[in-house]
Amino acid sequence: MNVLVTGGAGYVGSHAARLLTAAGHDVWAYDNLVFGHRAAVAPGRLIEGDLLDKEKLADVLRGKRIDAVMHFAAFAYVGESVTDPAKYYHNNVVGTLSLLDAMLKTDVKRIVFSSTCATYGEPESVPIGETQPQAPVNPYGYTKLVIERALADYARAYGWGYAALRYFNAAGASADGDLGEDHDPETHLIPLVLQVALGRREHITIFGDKLPTPDGSCIRDYVHVDDLASAHISALEKLKPGTELRCNLGTGRGTSVKEVVQACRDVTGHDIPAKVAPPRAGDPPALIADASLARRELGWVPRFTSIKPIVESAWKWHESHPNGFDA
Ligand code: UDP
Repeated sequence: MNVLVTGGAGYVGSHAARLLTAAGHDVWAYDNLVFGHRAAVAPGRLIEGDLLDKEKLADVLRGKRIDAVMHFAAFAYVGESVTDPAKYYHNNVVGTLSLLDAMLKTDVKRIVFSSTCATYGEPESVPIGETQPQAPVNPYGYTKLVIERALADYARAYGWGYAALRYFNAAGASADGDLGEDHDPETHLIPLVLQVALGRREHITIFGDKLPTPDGSCIRDYVHVDDLASAHISALEKLKPGTELRCNLGTGRGTSVKEVVQACRDVTGHDIPAKVAPPRAGDPPALIADASLARRELGWVPRFTSIKPIVESAWKWHESHPNGFDA
């Protein structure tokens, strides 16, 4: 298939684009490089453009004879979405509607959408299955939920096939250490801990150690970025007119912040000092996926099921790219 990957220069998008190419698809990355990195895209495969540029998107969809879209491009800082919701609704909702308009105009009817466990908000129980209520607790989660809803409506009205893949905590890096996480600012736990090991930070701050979890720190379901990428490809290959897939992507296994820090100590050999601070506002104590639907529907079995190999892959990237993609 000819596939357009929006946000193809970003963290998950670049891994997906690479895997799609390896699977024999013809892949174009579409990215405005606000957060994406030119160096994360295969040579000659980057189209610089904004989601809001509907005409350009339509030209690309038509010109490259695109069969399907993988849509990763979005702003994804939860905290910023609270202080500047307009930025998030504009980019993530209006931007995506512009992409969907361009698809309508050019008769592209297949899309895999990068959604999030943040659409569930505070879960009723863990593990979280897809049938739990979706009640986001921040604007970021709402922007993703709005698009899930739009895709369901578009699928029914226009005969599209779509998959909304709700990621838990994306982590890790490509096996060769050439692609990895490079956010500015960085807010995610594993890269921050590894920056301590690189001598770039004094300590890691653990947000909360008296939560109702076995060791008192927050539990998350860390899923390897290449496992996310492979789920996207399986989903893409399943899409037919009218297909509606809404799947969690996680390992079904929770890891606490303290366990992540310890895994980073084990992998790097650095003692990684840690300090405890109050929990972050709106951080649920535990988020773990019930990912059995992805297994059933997509045949998806994550290859990384424990934190250590995930951290090992991330460390390979961070150690060889201490400044990220800016060599
Ligand atoms: N966290 C932490 N210290 C940090 C960054 C994150 O203790 O400096 C915790 C955070 O409270 C959450 C987990 O690590 O429980 C994962 O946070 P991250 O920001 O990576 O992803 P999120 O779960 O917020 O999407």
